[in-house]
Amino acid sequence: MSDDFIRRLPKPELHVHLDGSLRPETLLELAREVGLRIPARDPEAVADFMRADESRDLEDYLRRFEVTLAVLQSEPALERAAYELVLDAAAENTRYLEIRYSPVLNTRDGLTLDEVLDASLRGMVRGMAETGVRGGIVVCALRSLSPEVSTALAELAVSYRGRGVVGFDLAGGEAGHPAREHAEAFTVAARGGVPRTVHAGEAWGPESIREALVEGRAQRIGHGTRLQEDPLLEEIIRDQQIPVEVCLTSNLQTRVTASYAEHPLRRYYDLGIPVTICTDNRLVSGTTLVREYEAARDHLGFSGPELALLAWNGFKGAFLDWPARSTLLSAVAVEMEELGVPLP
Ligand SMILES: [Zn+2]
Repeated sequence: MSDDFIRRLPKPELHVHLDGSLRPETLLELAREVGLRIPARDPEAVADFMRADESRDLEDYLRRFEVTLAVLQSEPALERAAYELVLDAAAENTRYLEIRYSPVLNTRDGLTLDEVLDASLRGMVRGMAETGVRGGIVVCALRSLSPEVSTALAELAVSYRGRGVVGFDLAGGEAGHPAREHAEAFTVAARGGVPRTVHAGEAWGPESIREALVEGRAQRIGHGTRLQEDPLLEEIIRDQQIPVEVCLTSNLQTRVTASYAEHPLRRYYDLGIPVTICTDNRLVSGTTLVREYEAARDHLGFSGPELALLAWNGFKGAFLDWPARSTLLSAVAVEMEELGVPLP
């Protein structure tokens, strides 16, 4: 099926990091403003410099964020980044967008957590008002930081529930930092009615996914690439219909998979696991949502109706309140029918 079909397909984006998705030209401008030297003079060179094609592993990939975080320490920068991300998503016909980041990393120059979150929310709301995209913010805790910080971030997410924050996540270097250390934070989020997703099965195996489900009370799994190593766990994820946020290009760059063709996305789909496609980081992975759908088509043989089902899985897994989610699902179903891909 054509590139045009993928572009027109209404798409959800459940897994994209604000600090990994700046426009190259914006990063260049903000770097000049704060006096940060980047060894690149134009947006194209910035995009090349930031793209993590040569990374050795997840930790190496994450080092790129030191550059973007250096420029995301002011309210105008955070507002602009969120606003532009919504616009870029809308331009690809993304209808539902969850923007995630860890506000604790944006307080180095004195902003409070509330100021950080409010700034990104202003940008997001403005972008959504202009484009009609729906969505919200997912607050990330980080595995490498102390459990107390995670709990404070979960409390922050709870206090913004219904005011733009739709979920809570645990991100960062997975190996050596088990989710169980952050169990208290997940309890706080669960008690406060904030849905949970966890980065798991990316840099660590199935045991990490099990911890995400049990200790993290995860309702969705970020990546889940190594889920395929444990058939029983695959059955659990399938039977409980836990959505898996798949990021193909990112997994290639962090060397969790050797090639697009060897990625387990196709396997999970065929097993009946509700997989959906996400970018992870538009700048650091040098990708777009359309390109990720094209990769699934070109390397894993996904047909038009199958790509539509991948999108549908994401809409169904949205951390949106139920009235808004059911309205969104109805609208998307009508549109997919018009595109000639009626849902099963
Ligand atoms: Zn991620």
